[in-house]
Amino acid sequence: MSEFGEIKKRLIERKETLAHLLNRVENSARRKLDKSFEEQAIQRENEEVLTSLDDSLNDEFEQIEKALYRMEKGEYGKCEECGKQISAKRLEVVLYANSCIKCAD
Ligand SMILES: [Zn+2]
Repeated sequence: MSEFGEIKKRLIERKETLAHLLNRVENSARRKLDKSFEEQAIQRENEEVLTSLDDSLNDEFEQIEKALYRMEKGEYGKCEECGKQISAKRLEVVLYANSCIKCAD
């Protein structure tokens, strides 16, 4: 087990949760409403909300995959900008952080 065993577990759990959520968003986006004019308008609004939700979930999903990949390569926890170690506190909050707090500013 690597020194990041616990974080890896949390990353994988989060990834599974996200995959599940993304699945649900896609399903509900596909669902067709019976369509009065108002309902269609509401549906369009919902779709916009879902699309932006979908985007942010997808973003996070990708970040997590990258973090897991960096972990495999032994690069996890290092800042991609300056190469310094990212503080454990920061990683605790942002599991997939790829830059230290200074570079992220
Ligand atoms: Zn840095």
